[in-house]
Amino acid sequence: HAKQQGRARWVMFDTAMQEKALRRLQLESALRQAQGRGELWLAYQPIVSPNDGLIRGFEALLRWEHPVYGEVGPAEFIPVAEEIGLIGAMGSWILEHACRQLRLWQQDSGLPLTMSVNLSAMQLSDDGLVDLVAQTLTDTGILAGTLKLELTESTVMADPEHALDIFRQLKALGVKLSLDDFGTGYSSLSHLRRLPIDTLKIDRSFVSQMDLLDDKRQIAEVIMMLAHTLGLDVVAEGAETAAEVGLLQGMGVDFVQGYYYYKPMRADAADAAWREQRARWESR
Ligand code: C2E
Ligand code: MG
Ligand code: MG
Ligand code: MG
Repeated sequence: HAKQQGRARWVMFDTAMQEKALRRLQLESALRQAQGRGELWLAYQPIVSPNDGLIRGFEALLRWEHPVYGEVGPAEFIPVAEEIGLIGAMGSWILEHACRQLRLWQQDSGLPLTMSVNLSAMQLSDDGLVDLVAQTLTDTGILAGTLKLELTESTVMADPEHALDIFRQLKALGVKLSLDDFGTGYSSLSHLRRLPIDTLKIDRSFVSQMDLLDDKRQIAEVIMMLAHTLGLDVVAEGAETAAEVGLLQGMGVDFVQGYYYYKPMRADAADAAWREQRARWESR
């Protein structure tokens, strides 16, 4: 019996592995074609000041809509893009596209709206990154200080000395730097102090249900104090309820990004949200 059960389990395991491997192969070949077929697009999620409810910036979030597989999330396909060597081309397309969109919004309004762009681990270790950012700033004509590059805490802390070197070069261009998903990696406080960053983004796992779970709320509070002690701005990710936003505001959060205010949107919907807000900016 035990032997039989063991074999049945093994078969199931094997099938699951095969399915995973198959999905992986399918995604790989589909992803190679995705850019050329226009299946990739950028969603923009507003980043809001909770004190006046006004949009201060957007984060560009990559989307992939495949005709058969449907929407595949970036958490699944970005690692694939990294492994098959597509992230370089994809990353420069994302950066340029997001900066052009920002330029349009800035030109229209004359307001110093910001654009946050995620960089993957592999982009951080790419020798061409600093030149790419410099070139994109020149090509698109945005103010350097309105571009915010996001790297996750884990990526940065995997090689803090290298990150420090690249961050110094990026800061020399005038761009801003954010540590993303903060609280999920293992930051050394001495590295954190030395890194020339501007913003900490508190990971969604501490924000979601922070009104119900004491430990989450307390961790968020400690992160907030730490960030402010270091002179950094704080963005809270993933706030979905008024209770969460209220608590964050009480802790002195600088910005909130979450479904409570807006979901990530196509450029035209983001544009409409921004236009609607501009009327409020002007009547301020
Ligand atoms: P991230 O940079 O931390 O982005 C925030 C994620 O939280 C986004 O997921 C966003 O849709 C989601 N989010 C925001 N507010 C809420 C909320 O209130 N509730 C919930 N449930 N979720 C919320 P998304 O778009 O699936 O992206 C996942 C991750 O994939 C990103 O995390 C980022 O690490 C990566 N990613 C996305 N776009 C890019 C890109 O262009 N380049 C690179 N390298 N990575 C990207
Ligand atoms: Mg991000
Ligand atoms: Mg994040
Ligand atoms: Mg994340």
